[in-house]
Amino acid sequence: MRRRIVILGAGESGVGAALLAQKQGYDVFVSDKSTIKEAFKKELDDNRIVYEQEQHSKDKIYRADEVVKSPGIPDSVPIIKALRERKIPVVSEIEFAARHTDAKFVAITGSNGKTTTALLTYHVLTGAGLKVGLAGNIGHSLARQIAVEKAKDWYVLELSSFQLDGMFDFKADIAVLLNITPDHLDRYDYKMENYIASKFKIIQNQTADDYFIYCLDDENISRELQVRDIKAQQLPFSNFKEIREGAFFQDDKIVFNLKGDAMSVFMEQLAIQGQHNRYNTMAAGIVAHLFQIRKPGIRECLLSFKGVEHRLEKVLKVRGMNFINDSKATNVNSSWYALESMDTKVIWIAGGVDKGNDYSDIIELAKKKVKALVCLGTDNKKLMESFKGVVPTIVEVSSMAEAVKSAYYLGDKGDSVLLSPACASFDLFENYEERGRLFKECVRNL
Ligand code: ADP
Repeated sequence: MRRRIVILGAGESGVGAALLAQKQGYDVFVSDKSTIKEAFKKELDDNRIVYEQEQHSKDKIYRADEVVKSPGIPDSVPIIKALRERKIPVVSEIEFAARHTDAKFVAITGSNGKTTTALLTYHVLTGAGLKVGLAGNIGHSLARQIAVEKAKDWYVLELSSFQLDGMFDFKADIAVLLNITPDHLDRYDYKMENYIASKFKIIQNQTADDYFIYCLDDENISRELQVRDIKAQQLPFSNFKEIREGAFFQDDKIVFNLKGDAMSVFMEQLAIQGQHNRYNTMAAGIVAHLFQIRKPGIRECLLSFKGVEHRLEKVLKVRGMNFINDSKATNVNSSWYALESMDTKVIWIAGGVDKGNDYSDIIELAKKKVKALVCLGTDNKKLMESFKGVVPTIVEVSSMAEAVKSAYYLGDKGDSVLLSPACASFDLFENYEERGRLFKECVRNL
């Protein structure tokens, strides 16, 4: 009998998995508790893939030999619990897809910086003419690419902890761990150790032939390294310590030291700025060195990378004030790095859905740099209380247009207006992209 694959969640990763499973000859069934987007429904119909929406039919799901779960579905929902009780394996789309390709993987994770580093890595590798794909939380799912696109030699994967949770046999040939700071703890029983363990799955199954690139300055990573037996070759990067094999920062430049060969890049020449982007550049640059790309090629591509929309994206200068869109900053740590990278006084637009934020780490920085805080959310109480007495002016607004206008009036020539919310966007916006786009539109309307 054909093996039955049930796919839970019909978004990009679920539909990709369905296409690949169909192509591989499995008996496929897709089930989504919500309404499936029209474009995805059409794709399933066109490929004669059986699906249901707005329900989970247990009789059809429990007959699965294996279930591919969308990363958006928490382990705590009844259907997943029931599958576990029945000992039906539940895996993520990446785990499933990776079985069906001979390509190798550069897998990138971290609490922040995944997208930037994955895009930068992809930019450098493709710039050198390598046959590389880009997948994971970015663009088209890995499963879809394997199912319908030309074969690649390598894939650069951006992996969230939710993807990693459903990965067991997957192995990264090159693993990158950027940082581990509190995020999504609601999905990890509010235990940091569970979240750390999830992130460390990036190195599972690695052997001495593989590479592990990580940030040596991250406390959670260094602590975990002391208790783990790491099989892969380690290539750390650091902002503070000189590194013999890896990358570090010295005298305004990033130094790559690999196999006795050194190369450096002046930070000021990069289009992406800030301490966090220093880390992201070190990580991507180390990966590039492992591919033995010639140094001028690596340098050229690192310098020509323009950054990613909604991540410290310069919008416009209005009346001498720089408006910067960092809508993707949905946790405190990413806003910390955004503020840290500012070299002017800041009018800071923040707020939204708080994911259990602790603002204490950002207080000192706000005291030094923030002139006014514009709170943009449906419930701003915690944000306002946290920064009372820390920043001179705090105002509350309820729309992006108001936020931009207030910031404009509160700022002076030479200041920066920074949208870096430290919160999710779902109270007032569809997602962080909509929030960022609206910000840019309002700035242009000034
Ligand atoms: P992710 O894909 O992990 O969410 P992004 O590259 O989209 O990461 O960046 C998200 C936010 O985090 C941005 O607001 C950016 O300014 C900030 N950020 C980027 N890289 C880092 C890093 N290495 N450390 C901390 N914050 C970062």
